[in-house]
Amino acid sequence: MFDYQAPESLLADRYIVVTGAGDGIGKAAAIAYAKHGATVILLGRTTEKLEQVYDEIENSGGPQPAIVPLNLETATEHDYIEITNIIDQEFGRLDGILHNASLLGLRTPLESYDPVTWQQVMQVNVNAPFLLTQTLMPLLHRSEDASIIFTSSSVGRKGRAYWGAYSVSKFATEGMMQVMADEVSSTSNIRVNCINPGATRTAMRAYAYPAEDPTNNPTPDAIMPLYLYLMGADSKSVNGESMDAQA
Ligand code: NDP
Repeated sequence: MFDYQAPESLLADRYIVVTGAGDGIGKAAAIAYAKHGATVILLGRTTEKLEQVYDEIENSGGPQPAIVPLNLETATEHDYIEITNIIDQEFGRLDGILHNASLLGLRTPLESYDPVTWQQVMQVNVNAPFLLTQTLMPLLHRSEDASIIFTSSSVGRKGRAYWGAYSVSKFATEGMMQVMADEVSSTSNIRVNCINPGATRTAMRAYAYPAEDPTNNPTPDAIMPLYLYLMGADSKSVNGESMDAQA
């Protein structure tokens, strides 16, 4: 596991958007960020799941989060502008985005890959993070120390048969992170990095590996050290890196 002990107040007074915050790794990250002082903007497509995370954060005494129900597959430019306006009015700036939501799509050869699924995966995994980041950028510029984290995968670094659009989308994610990191490198306040969570006990993993014993993989909570490190000030000088949560 990535070795980092986060100070309790690591993310105090920070406003952080987490996508796919209702389940799996995104849920764990939202709760971990709130536990370390952040006001978390919970973005996801299933409102009931977001409400559960909201309650969990409130009940544990964390800063009151915000809920943004949004389906990244169908979201329009208007939706992104509206979210940006709400965050602007409520908080006046943004200190971090964790791009975590993803679609797995099909596990099938490219030769027979369904084009509609291809578009859906690219929309959720690549286009949506691009559009969301672009719209939120003015608010990130107002932060003294903003961190953008994309979520990659081992199949986003080396292609693997039958991983289709998911694998290609994760290569695109690595590329987007590198281009953006190079562009912001002249500013001192924004950094952009990728996390590869590694095999983690979630619904997506169970779907991808139905025959596997899930208890052999760490829980989302167990991989949080890197998520905390890259979101907080201790990683201020880290930009353009793709890091493994389970290194
Ligand atoms: P899960 O499928 O468990 O959770 C994904 C979350 O994203 C869910 O909350 C889901 O919402 C949300 N989501 C999916 N589609 C949309 C959409 N169209 N709009 C809004 N939200 C959406 O996945 P994991 O927690 O396992 O994965 C998190 C990230 O980690 C992903 O980027 C994944 O690719 C990556 N990853 C995971 C690995 C693993 O072993 N688990 C390994 C390598 C990478 P809902 O709850 O409503 O379905």
